[in-house]
Amino acid sequence: MSKRILIVGTGVIGLCTAYYAMKRGHRVTLMDRAPADHSGCSTGNAGMIVPSHFIPLAAPGMVGLGLRMMFNPESPFSLRPRASTDLLEWVWKFFQACTPNHVLRSAPLLRDLGMASRSCFEQIADDASATFLFEKRGLLMLCKTASTLRHESATAIQAHKLGMPAEILSPEEAARLNPGLQMRVAGAVYFPLDGHLCPEQFLRSLTRTLQRAGVEFLWETEAESWIHQGRRLTAVQTQRGVKQADEFVIAAGAWSPTLVRELGLHLPMQAGKGYSITLPAPRQIPCVPSILTEARVAVTPMGSRLRFGGTMEIAGHDPSVNHSRVRGMIRSIPDYFPGFTEADFRNQPVWSGLRPCSPDGLPYVGRAGIFENLSIAAGHAMLGLSLGPVTGRLVTELISGETPSISLDPLSPNRHARP
Ligand SMILES: Cc1cc2nc3c(=O)[nH]c(=O)nc-3n(C[C@H](O)[C@H](O)[C@H](O)COP(=O)(O)OP(=O)(O)OC[C@H]3O[C@@H](n4cnc5c(N)ncnc54)[C@H](O)[C@@H]3O)c2cc1C
Repeated sequence: MSKRILIVGTGVIGLCTAYYAMKRGHRVTLMDRAPADHSGCSTGNAGMIVPSHFIPLAAPGMVGLGLRMMFNPESPFSLRPRASTDLLEWVWKFFQACTPNHVLRSAPLLRDLGMASRSCFEQIADDASATFLFEKRGLLMLCKTASTLRHESATAIQAHKLGMPAEILSPEEAARLNPGLQMRVAGAVYFPLDGHLCPEQFLRSLTRTLQRAGVEFLWETEAESWIHQGRRLTAVQTQRGVKQADEFVIAAGAWSPTLVRELGLHLPMQAGKGYSITLPAPRQIPCVPSILTEARVAVTPMGSRLRFGGTMEIAGHDPSVNHSRVRGMIRSIPDYFPGFTEADFRNQPVWSGLRPCSPDGLPYVGRAGIFENLSIAAGHAMLGLSLGPVTGRLVTELISGETPSISLDPLSPNRHARP
């Protein structure tokens, strides 16, 4: 049965949900408070589609690593202390989730979601109206030191156990994948199933496809409050009036918790700020994307451009650029790629985005609270692009009255509900 679906948020999660809902024959409206150029976290990200990232952000060792990095102003991680019970609760829940058991339970799920999403990207790219390129060249985890390489090799062994290919490479083998690029590393782990794309191109392509299919876009329209009758939402109130629908999906990224608070829903989430710089004419261009493992910098070729992305700052919803962190990111690049200098990045614009981070490293996908026609699709942290399409497909299955093809129980938005 065709339903009226209202989706709040036109980031990658909202657009992908709209895509699958439209394909299923639903009548879809997308609403965003931003203008039509997509200003959320989904534009300037590193563009990696990474089923290899099956270890959740909350994992053993992360608390110690975070504490060590916090006091270095140029390190890739920081947490700005502030008097906030939400922040305290998030930190406590993150700490509780950093266990081997949590990783053991989450890794097969993240693998399944990642692999299913990769197939979805292939399917969307085959759509006649698609105008983006999905490149399948894998991902190199480049390691400067032997100890990092040993640690990454352990992840490769875990990947094998989960049925995912991964190869441990010598510096020479890694160099063969990137002809013409100078590299100085101790070795690398190669994940051949990973892919990449230009996120802006992907969002533009999807937006055009949806517009051509008759999906309604309400730009510069902020969802402010809700109207409901018992257990059913009937409409969302905006500054431009009321919008009714049969089903409501919150895909508002790092701002989702505020939007559902008045409905009594508690979604612990912190914004994790990251930056990217895109060189329009780089000195050298790698063929295969990589992560500079110790520096936690992602490097992605996007046509003739080269994007560097990194840092994770837990500092509220402030989008301003912290130049010390950006300097730290830039300084690390010549350590791995000696063909680049810090001067290459001078005067290049810095993009910032707020990742929606749940405390256990798993997104919130599913029905929310007591409301039978409200779904949440948010909290994907560092994996929002990778998991966008599968999230859209699963939410569409849910609102179409089907049993989701991957169990959503571990992703329930109600998992942190207060008694
Ligand atoms: C530096 C960096 C690199 C990254 N690299 C990768 C990568 O390589 N691969 C990967 O998978 N992920 C990556 N990510 C993560 C990814 O970008 C995010 O997980 C993803 O973009 C989140 O998408 P979203 O749709 O949930 O949120 P957003 O893109 O933030 O979209 C939310 C939208 O909701 C709108 N909104 C909010 N509140 C309201 C309201 N009340 N009314 C109306 N509209 C509202 C906002 O305006 C916004 O447009 C990276 C992130 C960063 C910062």
